[in-house]
Amino acid sequence: MKDKFLFQSTRSNEIVASAPEAILSGIAPDGGLFVPAELPHADVRNILSLDPIPMAAAILHIMLPSFSEEQLIQLVTKGYTAKFDTSAITPLCAVNNMNVLELFHGPTCAFKDIALCLLPHLMKASAKSLSDNNEILILTATSGDTGKAALEGFRDVEGTRILVFYPRDGVSAVQKAQMVTQQGNNTHVCSVEGNFDDAQTGVKIAFRALQEEFLSQGVRLSSANSINIGRLAPQVFYYFSAYRNLIDSGKIAFGDFVDYSVPTGNFGDILAGYYAKLLGLPVGRLICASNANNVLTDFLNDGTYDRCRPFYTTYSPSMDILVSSNLERLLYLLSNDTALVSSLMRDLSVNGKYSIPASLLEQLQQIFWSDYCDDTQTLKTIHHVWKDYGYLLDPHTAVAWCAAEHYREHFGREREMVILSTASPFKFPEAVLSALGIPHEENGFAAMHELSNAVKMPIPKPLQGLENKPVRHRDSINPKDLTEYVRKKAVECK
Ligand SMILES: *Cc1c(COP(=O)(O)O)cnc(C)c1O
Repeated sequence: MKDKFLFQSTRSNEIVASAPEAILSGIAPDGGLFVPAELPHADVRNILSLDPIPMAAAILHIMLPSFSEEQLIQLVTKGYTAKFDTSAITPLCAVNNMNVLELFHGPTCAFKDIALCLLPHLMKASAKSLSDNNEILILTATSGDTGKAALEGFRDVEGTRILVFYPRDGVSAVQKAQMVTQQGNNTHVCSVEGNFDDAQTGVKIAFRALQEEFLSQGVRLSSANSINIGRLAPQVFYYFSAYRNLIDSGKIAFGDFVDYSVPTGNFGDILAGYYAKLLGLPVGRLICASNANNVLTDFLNDGTYDRCRPFYTTYSPSMDILVSSNLERLLYLLSNDTALVSSLMRDLSVNGKYSIPASLLEQLQQIFWSDYCDDTQTLKTIHHVWKDYGYLLDPHTAVAWCAAEHYREHFGREREMVILSTASPFKFPEAVLSALGIPHEENGFAAMHELSNAVKMPIPKPLQGLENKPVRHRDSINPKDLTEYVRKKAVECK
């Protein structure tokens, strides 16, 4: 097979895998992340001419060439049909002089649906192509939205089970209700005392500790986090679709550069934008928008990544992250130096920080620009965009809008700007009502109805009636007990 060794670890050129192997294992055995060893240039003009589903399949075929384009069209059709409330899948909406890319039209009202509706199908196809008959057990840490989107994606998919860990005090009431009421016979949800990083670290440790042991028992551990290349690859699509929409609306001509502002946490979404650029899409600047947990803003400004800082719980909880896993992929892509990446990652785990060489920082800054927006500015932005343009932003999208405005204050309005809108405002109704200056109940569900009345928009279907669904998942653990918990659950559910 020509692409047998198409993927390699960010920490070693010796650790290689085919696309199905990389998708099934999630993380490389040395703790690194799988990256395509080589990326061909795409026929961008042709890709842009396609309808959404063939477009998504064509891009996936470049990212994951082990799968044929016909097979990918089938998988994407299966993954997306009847899951999104618009045939555009990711519509682009002009708001004043910005363009909002609405990524929240899927089954859980967050952008993660775009990858997670597809990942179970990619995994099953991967297992089939490798004649791997092991049961697939997905372990996933979530800052709120991945968990629900993964649970929905994998629910009742034969041959798979999924265990989701969320930070007990780190998700919104609506996000929590979405998860603890999850249906499906193969789904498990557990809260972790601590923040997202505690949950993510716990999952990474469990992975390493249990992978071999479980495999000998016919269970393959995998991950639905954006460390899985099968999670990242589907996200490249909407950078192209937005570009196509800008051409269709006459705002740009083919070849014009477009800036994208991305509300960033684990650096997966924005990294997909960098892949789009590597494939040849005319991506101008990628704006990395952070909230008060501005570890990435500091890094992109001065080259030192330092996670040793206070952790803030903000109105944009899905971005409350101090260790952005996918940054490792970017460091590899830019440096091509596995020894450097290994040593930086060692510094991070031992000292909680690392500094990159000046030349690498310079390279980074040519592509990325970063700013952050605290809670006060987030609410102000939601208020101003609603009042001035009649468009309702969720808090994560507001962070990206705010950073895009700051960018334009620095550089002027040279190019079209796409703001990635990662969640429906109805997922965060308390914050949005506060922003609009409307007194409200602290109960997330009452607030959702109040918001619907105030802005005269219906609650999105997937969020309707959530408060009346029975709670099915009540477990809660200390992160240090996570490995033992997984071991116990795996036996219990046999
Ligand atoms: C996950 C998430 C983000 C951050 O995306 P990353 O890929 O982790 O950077 C932003 N907004 C929302 C609503 C999310 O769910």
